[in-house]
Amino acid sequence: APVFQARGLTKVYVMGEVRVEALRGVDLDLYPGELVVLLGPSGSGKSTLLNILGGLDSPTSGQVIAAGRDLTQAGERALTAFRRQDVGFVFQFYNLIPSLTARENVAIVTEIAEDPMTPEAALDLVGLSARLDHFPAQLSGGEQQRVAIARAIAKRPRVLLCDEPTGALDSTTGVRVLEVLERVNRELGTTTAVITHNAAIAAMADRVVQMADGRIQSVRTNPERRAPR
Ligand code: ADP
Ligand code: ADP
Repeated sequence: APVFQARGLTKVYVMGEVRVEALRGVDLDLYPGELVVLLGPSGSGKSTLLNILGGLDSPTSGQVIAAGRDLTQAGERALTAFRRQDVGFVFQFYNLIPSLTARENVAIVTEIAEDPMTPEAALDLVGLSARLDHFPAQLSGGEQQRVAIARAIAKRPRVLLCDEPTGALDSTTGVRVLEVLERVNRELGTTTAVITHNAAIAAMADRVVQMADGRIQSVRTNPERRAPR
């Protein structure tokens, strides 16, 4: 069974006279352990969809069932608990705390999680065992993003949602970060959705979802890759 089921999602932003239909009826299932890539032009609704799946935003209509619970019926308390425990987010910018080391940046999350891995184990998974006591300013952009990935996975979320995680990186560094995401997905079996313009990760994905104009235009399944079940 899917861990996430989105049904008939619409999202309308109203700004005075202007109405933007960011989503116009999106159905999407995420299956346990799979790596899904969301592609599509700027403005096609990718970030809006990801934010709704992660409980950061609510749809205008439609439903999200996450781990058997209807997020669209959940109260603010339940939504906050869901975001805190069940969802790991990675954004274009790393949002690390400059005065804390890599280990301490991850520890902020593990200290409040229910069944976390250790900061050291999370940083090892992203290949940063040699950088535990470095501060963000002492790390490259790719390394900082890997700390952000470690922070997102250390609480063992049900789903890892990544919005253009390589958007601020050069292409070689970006591909390395995507390889880290693929490895984490394979080793931990965390269901993962990634918005990217990078063709390299589309090749590593179980499914590639193409969006256009607030709708899912096509879904391509990669026969080469098998999600851990
Ligand atoms: P992308 O998803 O391509 O990385 P953004 O999410 O930054 O880009 O923004 C996509 C579009 O949404 C942009 O045209 C931006 O102006 C618009 N947008 C984002 N946030 C807001 C907001 N709070 N109010 C109005 N427009 C917004
Ligand atoms: P993508 O991630 O594919 O670039 P978005 O989901 O960011 O697309 O945006 C979809 C549409 O919704 C765009 O037209 C964008 O300008 C609009 N939009 C996104 N966020 C906001 C917001 N907070 N307020 C108003 N319009 C928004």
